[in-house]
Amino acid sequence: MQDLVSLREILRTPKKIVITTHAKPDADALGSSLALWAYLKKKGHDPKVITPTDYPSFLNWMNGNDEVIIYEDNVQLSEKLFQEAEVIFCLDFSALSRINELGDLVKNSSATKVLIDHHLEPEYFADFVFWDIKAAATAVLIYKLIIGLGDREYLDTCIGECIYAGIMTDTGSFRHPSTNKEVHMIIAELLNLAVDVSRIHRLIYDNNSESKLRFLGYALLEKLVVKRDLYAAYIAISEGDLKRFDSQTGDTEGLVNYALSIDGVVIAAVIIERPDSVKLSFRSKGDFSVNEFARKHFEGGGHLNAAGGKSNLNLEDTIKKFIDLLPAYKEQLYQNYKLEKSLC
Ligand code: 5GP
Ligand code: MN
Repeated sequence: MQDLVSLREILRTPKKIVITTHAKPDADALGSSLALWAYLKKKGHDPKVITPTDYPSFLNWMNGNDEVIIYEDNVQLSEKLFQEAEVIFCLDFSALSRINELGDLVKNSSATKVLIDHHLEPEYFADFVFWDIKAAATAVLIYKLIIGLGDREYLDTCIGECIYAGIMTDTGSFRHPSTNKEVHMIIAELLNLAVDVSRIHRLIYDNNSESKLRFLGYALLEKLVVKRDLYAAYIAISEGDLKRFDSQTGDTEGLVNYALSIDGVVIAAVIIERPDSVKLSFRSKGDFSVNEFARKHFEGGGHLNAAGGKSNLNLEDTIKKFIDLLPAYKEQLYQNYKLEKSLC
């Protein structure tokens, strides 16, 4: 990582620090933020984690959760903390638009800004950029930052648990192509810190409400559409569907993977009607870049095989836009399908 010496110098004396991450934080976003928060606290700083929105309840077990400030619920306090901050860490997002109103607070702040991220094509708004698209998770970069700053002895079980959660979820439980040797080496170190990996897996994945599972059943039975000739599948969910199943933040996470798991499907989408716009989640197999697809057509981005975006059309027209785009990609989707099948 570049600039570690300068960052170490800045962090040599106690600082007022804000750590922020993308809207609707997932386990990597929140886990990275709380791991960094706990580390900086141990170092004698005054860090605060401010998230743009709330996050799924299956992340509430993380050390420091009770101290997280949700901007939407604490606008004045958040603005004050951003104004007072001497250092702002931006974790797990590459574009300021992903943190909603906090984007302007970051942009207008005179604090030293540090971006730590693994998404494709980041915006350059920070003074320090620790950016690695090959990193399996932002949590990997937080682990390497702590080691790089010479502070291995500050790692403990609580920090390790947050880092583990980020890596486990962003690698799809160690099955995505991002699961490299470095990932397993870091996990081995986390095991040395007595991280209970089985418990963390249960806390995140075996923590469903009944209504979330009923909703999953409904979505797969009634809403899943497979376009076999286009190597595509999608699930579209209306606001009414979300209300009917009392859907909570995080209840739609992972839905898109079911659509992608269908044999012959190379691109999958979940299209969700939210109050302000329609949100899209994309997943792909092989080399088909949903990052490019989301960036080009849905004001979004992400990774090669996992990306998201939004649409200001209504739900029906967004579905139509998605379907109408597919024929232009048919050959590319077919090539990826063929490649997947011909692997020995
Ligand atoms: P998910 O489908 O799980 O919400 O997101 C998949 C990946 O795409 C994540 O890495 C997420 O950070 C990124 N992503 C999701 N939505 C957006 C978006 O609207 N814009 C950008 N640039 N990235 C997104
Ligand atoms: Mn991530």
